[in-house]
Amino acid sequence: MTTTEQERTVRAACPHDCPDTCALRVTVSGNRVIRVEGDPDHPATDGVLCTKVARYAERTHHPDRLTQPLRRIGPKGSGQFEAVSWEVAIAEIATRLDQIAARDPQRIVPYSYAGTMGFVQGDGLAQRFFYALGASRLDATICSAAGSNGLASVHGKSVGMAVEQFENSKLILLWGTNPVTSSVHLWRRIQTAKRKGAVVIAIDPFESDSAQKCDRWLALRPGTDAALALALINVLITENLLDHDWIKQHTEGFEALSERAMQWPAARAAEICGLAEADIVWLARQWGSVRPAAIRVNYGVQRARGGADAVRAIAALAALTGAWRDAAGGMLLSSSGWFPVDVQGWQRPDLMPGWPDRLPRSVNMSAIGEALAIPVVPPHGSASGGSTPGGSTPGDLATIPVEAIVVWNANPVAVAPDSESVIRGFAREDLFTVVLEHFQTDTADWADWVLPATTQMEHFDLHKSYGHTSLVVNHPAIAPIGNALPNSEIFRRLAGAMGLTEPALFDDDQTVARSALDWSHPRLAGVTWEDLLERGWAPLTMDPTANPLANGGFPTASGRVQLVDSALSAQGRDPVPDWQPPWESVEVDPERSALYPLQLISPPARNFLNTTFVNVTSIRAREGEPECLLHPADATQRGLVEGALVKVFNDRGAFAARLRVTERVRRGVAVAPSIWWHRDAPGIRGGPGRNVNAVTSQRLTEGGAGATFYDCRVEVEALA
Ligand code: SF4
Repeated sequence: MTTTEQERTVRAACPHDCPDTCALRVTVSGNRVIRVEGDPDHPATDGVLCTKVARYAERTHHPDRLTQPLRRIGPKGSGQFEAVSWEVAIAEIATRLDQIAARDPQRIVPYSYAGTMGFVQGDGLAQRFFYALGASRLDATICSAAGSNGLASVHGKSVGMAVEQFENSKLILLWGTNPVTSSVHLWRRIQTAKRKGAVVIAIDPFESDSAQKCDRWLALRPGTDAALALALINVLITENLLDHDWIKQHTEGFEALSERAMQWPAARAAEICGLAEADIVWLARQWGSVRPAAIRVNYGVQRARGGADAVRAIAALAALTGAWRDAAGGMLLSSSGWFPVDVQGWQRPDLMPGWPDRLPRSVNMSAIGEALAIPVVPPHGSASGGSTPGGSTPGDLATIPVEAIVVWNANPVAVAPDSESVIRGFAREDLFTVVLEHFQTDTADWADWVLPATTQMEHFDLHKSYGHTSLVVNHPAIAPIGNALPNSEIFRRLAGAMGLTEPALFDDDQTVARSALDWSHPRLAGVTWEDLLERGWAPLTMDPTANPLANGGFPTASGRVQLVDSALSAQGRDPVPDWQPPWESVEVDPERSALYPLQLISPPARNFLNTTFVNVTSIRAREGEPECLLHPADATQRGLVEGALVKVFNDRGAFAARLRVTERVRRGVAVAPSIWWHRDAPGIRGGPGRNVNAVTSQRLTEGGAGATFYDCRVEVEALA
C-alpha cells in the first residue's frame, strides 16, 4: 500500500499476547515508523488499537534498542558486555552448544513464550532447530495451560462462541477478566450490548476497570471459582432451570455432574467463596432465565491449584442451560482451536531423535528456577538420565542438569514465578545463557550472549488469534534497526554453524508460515495465500452470525460436551469437576495461611502487557509506580495508610510498592498490578529491585501443570 511519495502504508499484525490480534496499518517514512493504527476494514480491529500498540513507533525507535550482538566480558549479571559481529557471535555460540550437546543435548533448554505469537518468529523455525538438536522440550505452561487443559477436557479443544456476538447478548458474565485492559475490542462490543439493555456481571476478587462499569460485581475469594460454578449448577438443577433437550442431545456425564453439584448447595459455596448465599442464588436464576446469555471467562480463574477444574465447571454452565442454542450465547475462553494448525508441518516434531516413542525430557517453564537448581556434576555426562518414552517424569529433572538455556520472546527472570530461585539459576557461572531480545531486559542482564532481534515492524510473520477467527499477516514495514536479525534468521544461522543439514531448518519465512496451516481444511476453503498477503487478513470460513456449536459438534471424541471426563482417571484426577482448595489456603496449609493472611493476585497493569512496554517512557509514565491495593479494613489492621511505601512479603521473597487503600479489593486480598521489571522496581532498604514474582510460587496447577500466580499468600507491612 502507498499513500504519498514520502510516506507509505504497510499491512501488519499485532504480535502480542492479547486475544484481539489486531490488523495494523503502519505508516512509514524512509526507514522510520511514523504511525501505527488499527485496520478499519478488519472487523475484529475496526480501526481501533489499545494505547500500548498505538505507541509502537516509540517502542520500535527506542534509543535503548539492541543493535549489535553482545558478548559478556564481566561476571554474570555485571552488565559488562562487548559488541561483536554476527559471524563471531554465531560461531562461538554454536561451538559452545555443540560441546554441551555432545554430552547430552537435553542439557540445552529452549525457553520462549508469547513475546511474539507469530507462526514464524515464535515457535516455528526455532522449534525445528531444538527438535533436530535433541534438546529438552519445554512445557509452555506459564499462562494458559490449566485453562486450556480444562477447556479441552470439556470441549475437546479451545473453541467457543464468536466474539462478534457478545454485542447481541442479554446477559454477560465477565468471569476473571478485565477486557477494558486486556481485550479492548471485546469491551467495545460489551458496551454495545449494554446500550441495548444487556446485564453485565463481573466475577472477580478485584473491582477492575471493567467491573466498575458492570451492573453487578461479585467479589469472590481468589481460587474459589469452581465452588461458585458448582453451586450455580446446584441451583439450576434444584430449580429446574435446565435445557433438558440440549443436555440430552449434546452432553455426556450429566448424572455424575448432578451428583457432584448436590454436594454444593449455595450456602456451602457462599462460605468458601466469601459471597452472600442470596447473590449466588440470584446469579443462578439470572443465568438460567435470561437469553441469549454468554460467559467471557479468562485466564485469571486458572492461576490457582484447581484452575483446570474451575474452567470445566464454568464451561458446564453454558451447556446445562443450552446457552449454545443462541448465536449470542455460550462461552468463550479461547478461539485458537478453530484454526486448522498443522503442528507436524509447522514445527516438525519428527525431527526429534527418538520420535515418536522416546522423546527428550520436558522442562516445565513455570518451574524453571527448580530446573536450573540441579547441579552440573563433574565429570560432565555422568549425571545424564537419558530419554524417557513419551516425555518427562520427575526423575528426568532430578538427574539432567541444565547447562545451556536459549531464551527468545520471553523474559523469565521477571516473569517466571519465585524470582529469587530463578535469579539464582540464571546467576550460575556454569550456565550458558543466550538471549534474543529487543532490549536489555532483566533476563538479558544475566546472559552470556545477547542477540539483537527485530521487532514486528522489521520482519515477516503470520498470526492466528485466540480471541477471534481471522488470520492476520505481518509484512515488514522497515528494514531492521542496526544489525538486528529476525529470530528465524538467527536460528537458521545457528543451524548452519552447528552443521545441521535438515532442509526444513533453512526454510524461508513465508514457507514456514504456509507450513503452519492445513490448507485443505474446510475452514480455509476459499482462502488463498496470495489474497492473504494482499489483504493482510482473512477470516476462517465460519458464519459469524451463527453459533458454530448450537447443534453440538464439539471437537471431543463423541462430539458432545464432556461434563465428565473419564480419561482423567488415568491421570489420577477426578473425572467430575470439583473445587480444589488453593495450595496456599487455610484448608491445605493453615500454618502458611496464619503467617501470611493475605491472598495476592497480580492482574495485568492497564498500560503493560506482561513485561512488554514497561520500558517505553510515555507508557511507563502513565502507569506510575508499582502499587499494592488493600481493603481499608486490612490496611487499618496493619496500621497502614494510603500512599505509604510498603513491603509485600512471604518466605520466598519480598517487593516494595506504594499502598493504595481502596474498597475495590475485597477483604483478605492484596492486588499488585503487574508486571514491572525488577530493575525498575524499588529495592527494599538498598537491596535490588524486585517485582511481584519475588513472592509467587513454583507450585503447579492440578490439571495442565500450569503456573499458580494467584495462589500466593503474603503479608504487608510498612517500609520505613
Ligand atoms: S495488544 Fe491487543 S488490543 Fe492492543 S493492538 Fe495488540 S491485539 Fe490489539
